[in-house]
Amino acid sequence: MSSNDRMASFTYTGGPVAASPRTLAGLGQPIPYEYEPSFLNRFRDVERKVAEVFETDQDIVLMQGEAVLGLEAAAKGLCRPGMTALNLVSGIFGKWFGDWMRALGVEVIEIEVEWNEAIDPAEVQKALDDNPAIELVAVVQSETPSGTVNPMAEIGPMANKAGALTIVDAVSAFGGSPVRTSEWELDITVAGAQKCLGGPPGVALVSVSDRAWAALEANPDAPRSSYLSLLDWKASWIESGRTKFPYTVSVSDINGIDAALDELLEEGLEASFARHDRAARACRAGVRAMGLDLWAASDEVASHGVTAVTVPDGLDNQVVIEHVRSAYGVMLSDGEHADMKERVFRLGHMGPASRSLNPVVALTALGQGLADFGVSTDIGAAVEAAMKVLEEPVDATAGAAVS
Ligand SMILES: *Cc1c(COP(=O)(O)O)cnc(C)c1O
Repeated sequence: MSSNDRMASFTYTGGPVAASPRTLAGLGQPIPYEYEPSFLNRFRDVERKVAEVFETDQDIVLMQGEAVLGLEAAAKGLCRPGMTALNLVSGIFGKWFGDWMRALGVEVIEIEVEWNEAIDPAEVQKALDDNPAIELVAVVQSETPSGTVNPMAEIGPMANKAGALTIVDAVSAFGGSPVRTSEWELDITVAGAQKCLGGPPGVALVSVSDRAWAALEANPDAPRSSYLSLLDWKASWIESGRTKFPYTVSVSDINGIDAALDELLEEGLEASFARHDRAARACRAGVRAMGLDLWAASDEVASHGVTAVTVPDGLDNQVVIEHVRSAYGVMLSDGEHADMKERVFRLGHMGPASRSLNPVVALTALGQGLADFGVSTDIGAAVEAAMKVLEEPVDATAGAAVS
């Protein structure tokens, strides 16, 4: 068996992330018929738990495909040719969303910032004031490829006040930092299970407001009788009193996600947010102490889930990442997509990777990997700096929060 046939011992990526033993046990349960009462109850429970993490009483739709399915369903459901939308771009996923909307015939007004920065809410307010035709605002809460976050608490209410609906990509925020769907007045919010929840990729977790349902129903172009249809879920599942699925659901994924949600909610959302924040601060402290540059322009815009590190001049990050994987069994990420791919290393600290001393392992792997290519990195200083942060008493073991 070569090292290419084995999974790395440590996974610190932008997702999917390594699942916890409890989640793996959930995934390994027997595969039930989807209409067994016990599974129907579990599916409804998962919806309730997802709503708890979204901090909302909106309807939850669990679409059976990777999070991109939920994003595409939201775009196709709410967009109409000739409508005006505001797209906020601080990275790849925001850029893609604009392309989708333009392909659907939408007049897209775009605010784009450098991909190491966050959207400025004052600019959003100005665009809304200047363009009363805006019916839709699209934004990515956590731009995973760039390791940055946007100020949703300000952007959501602004859009709502201007009479616009919001589509929010909260895929990598969910479970690792607050997604206050109701308080922030968000309309369609999409998350994935394979990021901070530490679940399997394969289900899109979608929260839909009453206003968004009304807009979907009023849109003749919204997908119907389609895998991309949110309305099918409403007509079949919700309106049957949650007894009839529109199609067979991914039962094993739901079992795994249920276990991951139990683990998260037993620990408590705030404890999980604190754990992710602490891992992120430890990584940033370590990167600085090692003498490397953080990609994010400031700590305020840096992500809770991944720490992006600027690739030192003259170095090929692909070669370093492959070396770190094969020599040390540690899987790190690059910038993953298009323009970001070659520019950063990403140390992922989502889900189980935010626990314990994982940030120290990630920092050590990056530091040693770079040193092996002649970059001078002070690994000892990085470990010390990270440990200063990790000494803080957030319970990093599985289970209950420290009181
Ligand atoms: C992971 C992620 C998605 C889903 O995209 P994949 O590349 O298919 O995993 C969408 N948006 C954001 C912000 C993500 O982090």
